[in-house]
Amino acid sequence: MHSYDVARHEKAQRLNTRMEAIAPKKLCRKQALIKGCLPVSDFPRYSQLGRSSGSVEFRLDFAYNELGQANVKGEARNEISLVCQRCLVEVSHELVTQIDLVIVTSEEHARELVNLDSVVVEEDTVALVDLLEDDLILGVPEQVCPNPDACKFTPQFQFSGGIVEKEKPSPFEILGILKSDKN
Ligand SMILES: [Zn+2]
Repeated sequence: MHSYDVARHEKAQRLNTRMEAIAPKKLCRKQALIKGCLPVSDFPRYSQLGRSSGSVEFRLDFAYNELGQANVKGEARNEISLVCQRCLVEVSHELVTQIDLVIVTSEEHARELVNLDSVVVEEDTVALVDLLEDDLILGVPEQVCPNPDACKFTPQFQFSGGIVEKEKPSPFEILGILKSDKN
């Protein structure tokens, strides 16, 4: 197993981190493991979602799976501060997201993989940021308020499944109404 310390390598070429490209299929053949961290500012969309001064830590395992697909599995972590959209309280969140992607060479191929997440790599290489960013964004929670019950903008009417079930008339009752209408 080959291990690449991207963080160390990155120090040598700090100005070029976003361009830090890897060759995923080659790494799959080598069954490589990549560990490292990238500055949050390298993620153009994710960095807009909250405030984070740290870096995104990641580990990625590359291998061909039993179906012969080039597969990258791993995890990315980042501490991000998110603002509750209701009460505007800022909450620090330890984001941990799982990554499981099949490397494909075209959008068409990606659409064929119905139940699998994929990343399209048309050239031989892909930027690390592009492998990680979508899953980071998906890992951001919708509800960030530490205490949603106390959040002053919590909607007043909360429908619990139980109450809705009780109020729903049974099909037999509806049948009864139809019968009585005919009479
Ligand atoms: Zn809130």
